Amino acid sequence: MTHILQVLIHTPAHSNLPSPLSYTYDLPLPVGSIVKVPLGKREVLGVVYAQAQELSDPRLNTPEIKFKNIISHVQGLGPLQANWLELVAFTASYYQRSLGEVAIAALPTQLKALTGEQIQKRLQKWQSKQEVALKQSAHLDEDLSPVESKAPSPEQEKAIQIIEHHEGPFLLFGSTGSGKTEVYLKCIETLLSKDPCAQALIMVPEINLTPQLENTIRARFRNSVGVHAMATMHSELTPAQRLNAWLAAHQGYAKIILGTRMSIFASIPNLKLIIVDEEHDPSYKQQEGARYSARDLAVYRGALSKAQVILGSATPSLESWYHSLDQLPLANKDQDSVAKRARYLRIEMPTRIGGASLPDLNRVDMNFQPKYTLFSPPLIKAIKERVENSEQVLILLNRRGYSPVLYCSGCGWKSQCNQCSAFKVFHKADRTLRCHHCGDTQKVPKKCPTCSNQDIMMLGMGTERLEETLLEALSDLRKTDHESLKILRIDADSTKTKGSLEIQLDLVHSGEIDVLVGTQMIAKGHDFRRVTLVAALEVDSALYSNDFRSTERLFALLMQAAGRSGRDVNFNAAQACELWVQTFNPKHPVFEYLKNHDYPGFANNQLLERQTANMPPFCFQALIKAESRSQENAQKFLNEIKALTDSILQSMMTRGHLPSLEHIFVYSPVPMNMRKIANVERAQLLIESLSRKHLQLFLTELKESMHLKSQAFTSVIRWVIDIDPHTL
Ligand code: ADP
Ligand code: ZN
Ligand code: ZN
Repeated sequence: MTHILQVLIHTPAHSNLPSPLSYTYDLPLPVGSIVKVPLGKREVLGVVYAQAQELSDPRLNTPEIKFKNIISHVQGLGPLQANWLELVAFTASYYQRSLGEVAIAALPTQLKALTGEQIQKRLQKWQSKQEVALKQSAHLDEDLSPVESKAPSPEQEKAIQIIEHHEGPFLLFGSTGSGKTEVYLKCIETLLSKDPCAQALIMVPEINLTPQLENTIRARFRNSVGVHAMATMHSELTPAQRLNAWLAAHQGYAKIILGTRMSIFASIPNLKLIIVDEEHDPSYKQQEGARYSARDLAVYRGALSKAQVILGSATPSLESWYHSLDQLPLANKDQDSVAKRARYLRIEMPTRIGGASLPDLNRVDMNFQPKYTLFSPPLIKAIKERVENSEQVLILLNRRGYSPVLYCSGCGWKSQCNQCSAFKVFHKADRTLRCHHCGDTQKVPKKCPTCSNQDIMMLGMGTERLEETLLEALSDLRKTDHESLKILRIDADSTKTKGSLEIQLDLVHSGEIDVLVGTQMIAKGHDFRRVTLVAALEVDSALYSNDFRSTERLFALLMQAAGRSGRDVNFNAAQACELWVQTFNPKHPVFEYLKNHDYPGFANNQLLERQTANMPPFCFQALIKAESRSQENAQKFLNEIKALTDSILQSMMTRGHLPSLEHIFVYSPVPMNMRKIANVERAQLLIESLSRKHLQLFLTELKESMHLKSQAFTSVIRWVIDIDPHTL
């Protein structure tokens, strides 16, 4: 008997194909089955989305409609679960993308290439490897003995208890070095001991930045569930590795799934616990396709799957902090407090393991330093003292290359990129000028390209120059062990080859390196044991950026960087650990909070400001971004969209879908901060609302009209909707 099945396939965002599409098949496949279907001349991957209907149903059997046949279904694989489909459907509707696009993007592409038989083989291979591993772990020799779990500190113990006895979601607000990882691992242990079939998902911002974690987890669970019971998922896997990890999770073999933001869409049938480590990290927000926030989806998925959710950070995002408050912060203490419902249960772990203290803050007022000073003398002196005492120093400068701009004082020429609204950066290692946005690279000119002046100046400093300057400044340093000074630079340039970051980090951990310089890559998550001084250079631009989140990001970055120091209370430092900041604005309130390690003070103050100005999390935002060959066209398109909005809002009011016109505010189009990249002009239109629900309804209607408008528009336009945008 023939059946009609609704199948989700990848329908491009701007195509007008309906999603799902109908196909026929001789089996009534269950919802969630993975199939291969024809689309035009291609064979594509699909997911059965609705209950099959029999073709004999007279309403369907009309001669005009000719359905195509499903080519095959992938045998031996259980269907995707209903709550996975719900997650995908929610994502598509919330982030205004097509259902098929989101569903298929969440599946490993190799599923398409393999037959059911081949998949079966892979699963069997996995099973036999796992059996061998478990047998081996039953009689391990000494040096392979599993890593013992540590006796929890009182704060860790309390956190574990709270998580065991409450539903959550939890915000684990634990200082840097308070041992959050141990809490995660204990919770997983407890879960697996109670329910051996359960699965846990741990998300991290970038796996390659913290190779330690993967090893820790494997070592920890080697005995109880076997080495293969962990699957990792991130974008650098080969297609085959990605498929294997996906299968292991989907079949329930992998008990622990460690992954980056993409892993929020893994098929995990027995998901009981979701951990989002460093939940404040911007890399949880996807920046292309469906621009989802994996952190927000984690909370949603937790509710769908009845899984506990733990968001962990020493510097939570303001959104999560806000959700953990049961009172709004107050402008003055005499006001009555305003109670609100806390959506997250906050668990605090203020103490570092072993009782080590957080670093003291030293501000160097750069107004009193000679012009163009890169390194102030007091900072150099402090670095020397530390290194001479065999302590490690970490220096953060969030800009790679040698110098961000070249400049001719004769005619005013600057190393502007022709294709982008950005300067080309001078890289000394290969003597190139490189644009970090479009990638365009040229040899560095020997003289000014416009006036032939030979005297080109370098403005500002990147990590390459920092490394070189520091080597000079410390040339007279005498280490007690008479070894020569070792400086290591870690940034995107130094870590291009696979595995190089891990090797470099190992050098730091083993104590080979005296000074580590680098971009934000060095500030995140690392458990360095001998760093006692952290310095942050050139932090001022973030204080005056027109992006309202930049202060929040700076504060988190500095707190996290500071948190890399003084982590080992038994390490013999000559004096208390320190965070140094070179700034032209030493009195800025951010530094007061930083000095007191006062994240709550900072966050509450920011929330007050945001509340006064009606900004997130007190309102909800969406950005419509348009790209075109000319800025004029990009803005013209957005203006046409803006003109549509009035009638849509009016009609929503008439239909009772909107309480008042003021519910939704549409700004005027403006060029984006980076207004041109690779010769494409970019503009944006901001839309705000006090109600998430109404913003959603409005955008859904607007999107329909936008499709029509962009098809009819005189020139080529690309547009996307970014919900809850991270940067404005
Ligand atoms: P966080 O993620 O909160 O910054 P980590 O989880 O990296 O902190 O822990 C900091 C350090 O303390 C790590 O070296 C970890 O091995 C160690 N540690 C954690 N918990 C304990 C404990 N209960 N006893 C001893 N050492 C611990
Ligand atoms: Zn010139
Ligand atoms: Zn460029």
